[in-house]
Amino acid sequence: MKSALVLGAGGFIGSHLVRRLKKEGFHVRGVDLKYPEFSESEADEFLKGDLRDQKFCAAILEKQFDHVYQLAADMGGAGYIFTGENDADVMYNSSLINLHISRLCVEKKVERVFYSSSACMYPAYNQEDPENPKCNEDSAYPAMPDSEYGWEKLFSERLYMSYGRNYGLKARIARFHNIFGPEGTWKGGKEKAPAALCRKVAEAKEGSTIEVWGDGKQTRSFLYIDECIEGIRRLTESDFQGPVNIGSEEMITINDLAKMVIEISGKKLKVKNIPGPTGVRGRNSDNALIKEKLNWAPDYPLHKGMVKAYKWVSAQVAASVEV
Ligand code: NAD
Repeated sequence: MKSALVLGAGGFIGSHLVRRLKKEGFHVRGVDLKYPEFSESEADEFLKGDLRDQKFCAAILEKQFDHVYQLAADMGGAGYIFTGENDADVMYNSSLINLHISRLCVEKKVERVFYSSSACMYPAYNQEDPENPKCNEDSAYPAMPDSEYGWEKLFSERLYMSYGRNYGLKARIARFHNIFGPEGTWKGGKEKAPAALCRKVAEAKEGSTIEVWGDGKQTRSFLYIDECIEGIRRLTESDFQGPVNIGSEEMITINDLAKMVIEISGKKLKVKNIPGPTGVRGRNSDNALIKEKLNWAPDYPLHKGMVKAYKWVSAQVAASVEV
C-alpha cells in the first residue's frame, strides 16, 4: 500500500485530495492547524500542529512516505492578500513551512513531493490587459508578482527546484489558478470571488443589489475542485517536474461571473461595483504546456461548477441563518 502525507489536509484542496487518495487506496496521514471545517477528514490519521515548527515537521515525517503533498500556506482571497495588511505573516508563515518540508523530504528520502504554487507568481506587467493576459509558464521572468503571496510562491518553487538539482529531490510543482467548489471558505475574509459572490447572492433579498469589488471588468478563470485534484494526481505520477499551470482557460469578467451566479439563483438582483482590492486586471490559465506534458487538461465547464458551488454555499447560508 502506498502512503501519502498531506500537509494542509484541513483546508479546502487538502481535504478533497485526502478523499481522492483514500479512494485510490493510499494510506494517508493528514496534517493541519485545524480539522476540515465542513466534513470529517477521511485520512487514516490526522495530526494537528504547526508546520512552522521544525520539530513538529520532523515528527510527522518520522516514518517513510511515498508521496508528500505540500498544500499548507497562509492564504486567502483578494481581501486577505491584496490589502497589504497580512504581507509579513504570509511571507514568514509560508516560507518557514516550505523551508522545513523541502529539506526534510530530502533527509527522509521521500519518493515525490508535490508543491502547490499559484498563478499569483506571474508578473503583473503581463496581466494589465483584461482581454489578453499572458500566463504561459515561461513568462514568469523577469519576476514581478503583484503580491507578497506571489513572491513567496515564486521563492518556494525555486526552493523545491534547487533541492531537485542539488539533492535529487523529485518535486512536482503546479501553479493553481483560482480553485473553487463545495467546502471552500465562503465567509470571514479569506474567501475567494466565486464563494464570495455565491454568498452575496444567497444572502440577497429579491430585487436588491449585490456589491462587486472593482469595476467588475477584471477577468479571471476558475477551476472546479475535482479537476484540480485530477491535475495534482496526474502531475505527481508523471515524469514532468513543472512548474505547470493547473487552471481553466474559460476566462470571464467578475461582473459576468456575478451575473452567472444571479442567473443560477433564479433571483432578480442588480450588481453595483464598489472600490475594493482586486489584484491584476486580467488572468487566465494557459494550458498548452500541461496538454503537451501530461496529454491532459481541465475541461469542466464553469457554469456546471458554479451550479454546484452555489448549491453548497446557499445551503451554508441557510444553515447559518437558522442557527
Ligand atoms: P486553505 O487555506 O483552505 O488550506 C491551507 C491550509 O493550510 C489551511 O487549512 C491552513 O490551516 C493550513 N495551514 C496554514 N498554516 C499552517 C501551519 N503553520 N501549520 C499547519 N497548517 C497550516 O487553502 P486551499 O485553497 O486549500 O489552498 C491549498 C494550497 O493551494 C495553498 O498552498 C494555496 O496557496 C494554493 N493555491 C490555492 C488556490 C485556490 O484557488 N484555492 C490558488 C492558488 C494556489
